[in-house]
Amino acid sequence: SYPALATRTAVVTGAASGMGAATARLLAANGARVALLARRTDRIEALVAEIAAAGGQALAVTADITDQDSVDAAAAAVHDAYGPVDLVVNNAGVMLPNPLADGRIDEWTRMIDTNLTGALRVIRAFTADLTAAAADGRTADLVNVSSIGAHVVFPDYAVYGATKAALTQLSTALRAELGPRDVRVSAVEPGLTDTELGGHIDNPALREQLGGMFAAIPALTAEDVADLIAYTVSRPRHVNLRHQVVLPTRQA
Ligand code: NDP
Repeated sequence: SYPALATRTAVVTGAASGMGAATARLLAANGARVALLARRTDRIEALVAEIAAAGGQALAVTADITDQDSVDAAAAAVHDAYGPVDLVVNNAGVMLPNPLADGRIDEWTRMIDTNLTGALRVIRAFTADLTAAAADGRTADLVNVSSIGAHVVFPDYAVYGATKAALTQLSTALRAELGPRDVRVSAVEPGLTDTELGGHIDNPALREQLGGMFAAIPALTAEDVADLIAYTVSRPRHVNLRHQVVLPTRQA
């Protein structure tokens, strides 16, 4: 357990499923107040009910991070309910692989707008909260969920990898701006994790390839990644884990 989390107020994007849902659940189980952002209202409302039934505090905020007005409205809803936040987990993301030669500009746009610009919209919405919390002597964290795909080449995943490399670089660069103001910035880079992420792949061969990877090795669970995020944000406030790769033991 992470008792240091009991005083925190968090925002988790992509909290409708997978790592975001697991992270929201774990933060709340450790006493944090957690705002859950995602597009699927039914999912986040069900998770809020589950957290509340377990004695935790959570808030469902329907939001599409590719839409600036939606992010602005979500930030306002979070601030109305909880006031300023001190922990932001930028986790929402999409993975839409296809050969680059297919020219799927629809998928490229969606990935860039979600994984990179969407993360930036969320950072923009809550950075003032983080710097104010830190100036007030409290612990303040920005965690960006990137991917091993930021470093390792997977054919047909070039644009996804590019968005994640950009997110990792953004995290490192932002640390240089926010670290001097006592706001920690961390990138978490998971390998193969059992979630809904692959469910949007429209290329049958690539769906099958991903299925084969899950069949070949025991993947991480969403809870494994949530645990790493909770660990990262519960270090003493002068300790910043900048960049962590977490892989299934059998993933090369
Ligand atoms: P999931 O698909 O289960 O979760 C992704 C979440 O993002 C969903 O809750 C989805 O909710 C939300 N989301 C997607 N688009 C938007 C949007 N426009 N606005 C708001 N929320 C959005 O997959 P994971 O848990 O695996 O993904 C979490 C992160 O982990 C992603 O950034 C992914 O790239 C990264 N990752 C995953 C790996 C894996 O192997 N699974 C490996 C490395 C990194 P909704 O549809 O309701 O909006």
